[in-house]
Amino acid sequence: MENEETLIIRNVNKSYKLDNKETFQALHNISVSFKKGELVSIVGESGSGKSTLMNLIGGLDSDFTGQIIADGMDLGKLSDKELDKYRKDKVGFVFQSFNLISHLSILDNVTLALTLSNVGEKEKIARATKMLQLVGLESQLKKKPTQLSGGQKQRVAIARALINNPDIIIADEPTGALDTTTSMQILKILKEIADSGKLVIMVTHSEKVASISSRVVEISDGRITNDTPNKNYKKGESFNLNVEEEKKEENKKELKQNLSLWSAVRLSFHNMWASKVKNFLMAFGVAIGIGSLIVMLCFSSGIVDFINSTMTSYSDPTIATLSKSATMEEIASFTEDDISQIVETINNEANLTDYTLSQEDISYGFQVATITPMFSASINYDFDNSGIAEYDENETLSLIYLYTTPPYYSDSTIVEGNLCSSDIPEDADYDAEIMLTPAIYNFFGEENPVGKIVELKITYNGSIISRFAKISGIVDTSVMSGFPVLYINYDAFEEIYNSQTEVASLSPLQPNTLYIQTPSKEIADAINAFVRATDDPIFEGISGSIEESLANMFTNLTNTIGSALIVISAISLLVSAIMILVVMYMSVTERTKEIGVLKSIGARKKDIRRIFSSESFLVGLLSGICGLVFAGILLIVVYILLTSLVGFAPLSFRWYYPFIALGVSIVISVLSGLYPASKAARLDPVESLRRE
Ligand code: ADP
Ligand code: MG
Repeated sequence: MENEETLIIRNVNKSYKLDNKETFQALHNISVSFKKGELVSIVGESGSGKSTLMNLIGGLDSDFTGQIIADGMDLGKLSDKELDKYRKDKVGFVFQSFNLISHLSILDNVTLALTLSNVGEKEKIARATKMLQLVGLESQLKKKPTQLSGGQKQRVAIARALINNPDIIIADEPTGALDTTTSMQILKILKEIADSGKLVIMVTHSEKVASISSRVVEISDGRITNDTPNKNYKKGESFNLNVEEEKKEENKKELKQNLSLWSAVRLSFHNMWASKVKNFLMAFGVAIGIGSLIVMLCFSSGIVDFINSTMTSYSDPTIATLSKSATMEEIASFTEDDISQIVETINNEANLTDYTLSQEDISYGFQVATITPMFSASINYDFDNSGIAEYDENETLSLIYLYTTPPYYSDSTIVEGNLCSSDIPEDADYDAEIMLTPAIYNFFGEENPVGKIVELKITYNGSIISRFAKISGIVDTSVMSGFPVLYINYDAFEEIYNSQTEVASLSPLQPNTLYIQTPSKEIADAINAFVRATDDPIFEGISGSIEESLANMFTNLTNTIGSALIVISAISLLVSAIMILVVMYMSVTERTKEIGVLKSIGARKKDIRRIFSSESFLVGLLSGICGLVFAGILLIVVYILLTSLVGFAPLSFRWYYPFIALGVSIVISVLSGLYPASKAARLDPVESLRRE
């Protein structure tokens, strides 16, 4: 065992490709062998190729010709994965500039290689404590690297290199940044490591350091020019690294495992915490996008809920409504013939099982916009004398709609007074009862309009019908409540209309709305569906109820607003994504050195990608949570604004909105982080370690 050669280097040539397609040969035909227990000093001028050789031995660079055989493995022939494993288990690196990861504690720095192998927490702490004891730092576990002196940092780096009990320790100018006294302490530690049976190869400029080692190899211009054993070398105290030996069996099993997701998240959390201001600002930016997304969702569904509740409370699902819409020029209507044809067609073609529609199930309605030149309606509401209006141009209110009362209006639709009736007492001083919408209150001033008699004036094709009408009640169907609308029973309206012979002879009143009373919602739905789907000409121009058309109009409006909001929040989310991309990309650049260190310790591409991806995941999660808080505040503000401005706030919250927001935020972050993560994973370790 003593004489067995741990590291054999045969005819190794190494050339660097320069930018202009030329190459520079840094190592010429190097052949040299090393044994366990040696403390080798590599000396030579700056630029002679020492670091190049160290990187080849350490498996950081596999682009060479010739053979390097370490522990029986031919490094030139190893796959990337095997090379990662070699770095993790067989070699330990110590650098001139320590290369500790500043946002991790001493303990976490030392255990990095174990973390990459997914070794359990207890075991990790036990081994790290042991290693730190050997270098005399067992009391500094919790400190951060910046809190240590140079010599202490290098001792931590040595503990980190030793943690996996490697056979070879490579130290590239380990004392280059230290004063003489500290250098000697570090050297003493390296000697103890060599004397415990490991191969320690160190690059040094110091003759004093070299003189203490067991062998000095001199390199000049990429060639070995001298290789001198130190005859005076005496084995001294050695490290007892037995802790690992005892547990080796158990460890072997564990070492097969890779960096766990949890450890990746923990590592990236530490890093994020180290630049918390930057990350919080970024999260805040994303949060604005996420927050407005939630508010937008709540608003859209608020409007939909509002319309639905209005629709269901003011209509009867068992009634199918067919209506022909009136245009400016013409009031389309249903003739007797139309109605019987409709009944026949529905019965023949709508496939309504166990149901036959009869004419008796149909009641009539008339709905018209009353602001057209052809048809207009107004009321006069001057109550100065005896509560009866006397027509006065200035106190006339134009109505927007005239509706005959639908069969499904009930007392619950009435906010004051009663449903209007068609039975007028013989001796009454009015001809009909009407109902009005709450918008009417604005026009009556202090007076309560219910019970008052107004003059109702209807103009149709130039002919005027003028009658006294009693306001029986106020109707509130929400959708319509903001408009001045008049309701009157169909029979009552027909009577008034037909009593004006001039009008009636011109065109007798015909319904433009049909209410079909069915036994169930299913049948009503089936009729509605049939009417919308059929291309039978008798159903041409027929739509549902006015409430339904209005609701559709509102829904369309909401959808349009919703789409605009979606575009806006999509843009803000895109901006967030680019922001994350930029920040992550910068983070990769900032952490180039750290990535190099991780690779020298044996991190695989996959591990690096995992660390960066979990960082973008955390950014997404953090942003999502900030977004939820932001959305909560925004919702309260919007609610207060809307209720004070419009009187009500159509905002509906669904339990899954926060999950949508979190999901969107995480997906965006993870996607934006993919490119920086893969860039990080592809970084060349030698290049990244060279970076200062
Ligand atoms: P040392 O560690 O002995 O100071 P290096 O091994 O770092 O020297 O470098 C040996 C030679 O190889 C130097 O001339 C250096 O300029 C060159 N060299 C090192 N790395 C590269 C590289 N990536 N590309 C081109 N030339 C390089
Ligand atoms: Mg060097």
